[in-house]
Amino acid sequence: MPAIQFDAKTETDDAESEASEAKTGAKDKKSDDDEADDTKKVVKTDAEWRKILTPMQLKVARKKGTEPAFGPAYAKFKKEGEGTYQCVCCGQTLFKSDTKFDSGTGWPSFYQAIDEKKIRRIDDTSDGMLRIEVECSRCDGHLGHVFSDGPRPTGERFCMNYASLKFVSKKDAEKGTKDKDAGGPKAKGSKPKESKD
Ligand SMILES: [Zn+2]
Repeated sequence: MPAIQFDAKTETDDAESEASEAKTGAKDKKSDDDEADDTKKVVKTDAEWRKILTPMQLKVARKKGTEPAFGPAYAKFKKEGEGTYQCVCCGQTLFKSDTKFDSGTGWPSFYQAIDEKKIRRIDDTSDGMLRIEVECSRCDGHLGHVFSDGPRPTGERFCMNYASLKFVSKKDAEKGTKDKDAGGPKAKGSKPKESKD
């Protein structure tokens, strides 16, 4: 299960967030598309990734591994409501919850990326077959593979690893925009989040 919760602290200060949201006004309209610098590559060393990722995230997203199907992360994925899925490494928004579908594979599946520019498709001939690997365009993080047996309207099936993704609920996204820059090491010092489980 992903251990980083950059935005966790924003859950505790509802009133404050709403007030400041009102102040910023029009700026919030951009929230779906708030990565103004999303063309800028994110490059880190192994050691740097190791500091911000869990071992599973590191194995999957940075070393092109595959997480077990139908794991606890998948159960979590199925329960998640409206929101978006970001790259766990660099925070680029990759998928929307309304393009999720149950593929029966035990891995998070989507029929479409939020924007083709945010992913990269790469021929993958490992394991003696031709598959199309999907990477995050900003940090080259491995996400999974895309197959052509998906549902309408695209007919594609993005078979992703949950370890490569970070769910941001719609509610959190609205609150979190203002202090997006506060992510990273600072999060450690924030107030502990109430456990929902
Ligand atoms: Zn990324």
